[in-house]
Amino acid sequence: MWSQSHNPLFNESDQEIFDRELADFLPDRIFDAHGHLVHPDIFAFKHDLVPETCGIEEFRKYNGMLHPGRELGALLLNYVPVDADVAFANQWFADQLNGQSNFRWFMFVAPDDDPDLVRQEVARLGAHGFKVYHTRAPRESTWDADIPEYMPEWLFQIANDLGLGLTLHMVKRRGVADPSNIHWIRHFCETYPDMKLILAHSARGFQPQHNVEGLPQLTGLHNLHFDTGANCSPLAHQAIIKLFGHDRLIYGSDSIPVGHLRGTNFGVADSFIWVSETDDIWGQALGRIQPTLIGIEHLRSVKHACWTMNLTDSQVEDVFWNNAARLLNLP
Ligand SMILES: [Zn+2]
Repeated sequence: MWSQSHNPLFNESDQEIFDRELADFLPDRIFDAHGHLVHPDIFAFKHDLVPETCGIEEFRKYNGMLHPGRELGALLLNYVPVDADVAFANQWFADQLNGQSNFRWFMFVAPDDDPDLVRQEVARLGAHGFKVYHTRAPRESTWDADIPEYMPEWLFQIANDLGLGLTLHMVKRRGVADPSNIHWIRHFCETYPDMKLILAHSARGFQPQHNVEGLPQLTGLHNLHFDTGANCSPLAHQAIIKLFGHDRLIYGSDSIPVGHLRGTNFGVADSFIWVSETDDIWGQALGRIQPTLIGIEHLRSVKHACWTMNLTDSQVEDVFWNNAARLLNLP
């Protein structure tokens, strides 16, 4: 655990923001429901602090820097790009996470996988659910894919039979306001009541208007949940709390690496923008702005959502631990 005065992840201004805005807000226990491990043979990234292989011990260390002094748990999602080996990645995750209490993980599944093999592997590897990604959809512009193109119906059947979870980062320009996304989420949640669907990035509401418009059409689904996944718009989380209740919202930093990078994301026009520290936008009227960590911008957005929705301290603890513990059967 990192004391608040010697945290290598935080520069001086990160530390000031954390101390001023977040130190009193963050509960003692943090369950991060949108985390990743990193292996250079699965996907490579460069960060001047975090090593290129980030297994469970490194995750504990570096995720701990974003939540200094807190007890940690996490749901780790195995993301495997199109050119990487899914079987290798799932086995590596299993080896990392075997026997780690307070940790859960979702194995990666591609739509052309063999359903019988997936059913065997999820049991053999001890995974707690499934992660998919739109880049595996068999089409050219996968950003426009319908959900079943990358998250096939048979996967919901397996999750339903075994009572497992699925994390979905949906695509399409208008996110959860898109009629196809609404149709398929409702269809799968109603048809497979024993599976648990988690909509990543607060329903991918990086443009929170899409949540305001789309989420009212998904109320009444008892098995629909949301991770906040580095979404920096308070309104995206507020819409979930308002329409579904605070007990469906689960904190997720999207580290490593997203929460550990500098920048932010925000809604603009009918879409959204991600900015990073290398984008040429930080010289503004008040002088050069020092971008802070996406992980800090995101924590701040969750705080603002909790504050404006009048959540009590114990309800905040639900968002940061108890909701995930119930969903993922933590001891
Ligand atoms: Zn992620």
